[in-house]
Amino acid sequence: MELRDSIVFSNGAYARYDDTRVGLLSHGLNYGLGCFEGIRGFWDAENRELFLLQLREHFERLTASTRILLMALPYSIDELCEIAVEVCVRNRFECDVYLRPLAYKSAEDIGVRLLGSEDSFALIAVPFSAYYPPGIGLRCGTSSWRRIDDTMAPARAKITGTYVNSALAKSEAKLNGLDEAILLSHDGHVSEGSAANLFLVRGGVLFTPDPSQNVLEGITRGTVIDLARRELRIEVRERPIDRSELYSADEAFLTGSAAGITYISEIDHRRVGDGARGPVTAALATYLTNLALGRDPAYADRVTRVYAGRAAALR
Ligand code: PMP
Repeated sequence: MELRDSIVFSNGAYARYDDTRVGLLSHGLNYGLGCFEGIRGFWDAENRELFLLQLREHFERLTASTRILLMALPYSIDELCEIAVEVCVRNRFECDVYLRPLAYKSAEDIGVRLLGSEDSFALIAVPFSAYYPPGIGLRCGTSSWRRIDDTMAPARAKITGTYVNSALAKSEAKLNGLDEAILLSHDGHVSEGSAANLFLVRGGVLFTPDPSQNVLEGITRGTVIDLARRELRIEVRERPIDRSELYSADEAFLTGSAAGITYISEIDHRRVGDGARGPVTAALATYLTNLALGRDPAYADRVTRVYAGRAAALR
């Protein structure tokens, strides 16, 4: 199906993508005043079921982001989950998908502000496969762009405007012939990738920057920490990480809804470990894949089945 014909949810109704409208002067577009999420759905061809990963957690973060931007999101977490499922059902997806909920300031006048603007909400869903080429380690470089600091714009909110920071860093990395950027915080500690959290394995311990390092508190990051502690029974330490620690890691990987768990083969022209995907990274990736496809009963509450109970009516 073409994007323009897909069914989206926009301002309280389901509509064809091309029949929705965003005003050219809207504050979301002009001032970057919006919050969004990126949610993955995984198609299980064998069982003909689409699993949405951690819907509730994503909508909780969206709600927290809207609060920071003084926006009114007129839907409860349950209602948002229902909208997400309904959009998938109406598109009759039978493939991996990516869901993009977007709350934005839709006033169409001149004057940057948070209050006194209308708020709009949309949810778009598209077929999606891999964010990074599968099976290959990422070649990363420390960016000359620093990660936005919480004193300038809220780093833990997923705000459209702050993605100029990610785009600058990612593009610089690509133009330098690399795959991905690693951003440092303003005081020089490691923060994260352009759209993914960063983990290191060193001496059997998993390290990741703590939330005060201006990271987006990733949903995948949280699940990876849980899996490492509960399933692999390894120690996880959230603490500031120095740049030179990147160079002495045995393993390094990025996590995100789009990124999944993707290993890093090289940082600043230094090979990470032996340059191949390490055992901790591989084990965590296997656990995450099983969890995402609803195959791990211990984490059944982290997935939502789209077609459960509705398949008969649909097909
Ligand atoms: N950091 C940034 C800046 C991101 O855009 C993302 C993707 N949402 C992440 C980290 C990873 O977060 P999550 O696991 O919730 O997708």
